Amino acid sequence: MTDIQELLLSRIRDVADYPEPGVMFKDITPLLADPAAFTALTDELAGIAASTGATKVVGLEARGFILGAPVAVRAGVGFIPVRKAGKLPGATLRQAYDLEYGSAEIEVHAEDLTHGDRVLIVDDVLATGGTAEAAIQLIHRAGAEVSGLAVLMELTFLAARPRLEPTLNGAPLKALLQV
Ligand code: AMP
Repeated sequence: MTDIQELLLSRIRDVADYPEPGVMFKDITPLLADPAAFTALTDELAGIAASTGATKVVGLEARGFILGAPVAVRAGVGFIPVRKAGKLPGATLRQAYDLEYGSAEIEVHAEDLTHGDRVLIVDDVLATGGTAEAAIQLIHRAGAEVSGLAVLMELTFLAARPRLEPTLNGAPLKALLQV
């Protein structure tokens, strides 16, 4: 493990049985509160934005906003929020996806993504990959390309990587930490 990976891992708090029994919640608030760790994380993700040729950063609500916005600024590209349905005021594209129980919907402002854009998707934790898969579909439907998917932490036992590979279509899935 690199020094940066050790620093990042040391600032993520495991909270057992949150928000429900059986879930080990990965709390990134200690990392956000540590300027050295937050800066290192931002720099790592901005490097991925640059190396994948991203022209925009999409952040997934809500922690993807906190991580993605400084990455966009550092990379010198625009930031686009992908929100839970019903939160964006303008004309949107909407994508439904399945949850363990029931389903959910995410949205993006249609005018924010166009043909020719290369989009890096940023989020904190990759679990089942359902949210990321819906975001990739939304970006494709807007006519844009996905330059990559970058997350702080991948929960490998939930097997999002094989699930996402066909949808990612060769774009890289970069996880700074894998557990
Ligand atoms: P999924 O769609 O299953 O990949 O879930 C991803 C979304 O849920 C991300 O936006 C994460 O912030 C959140 N999430 C899922 N599992 C966890 C976890 N164990 N700890 C923290 N956040 C999680």
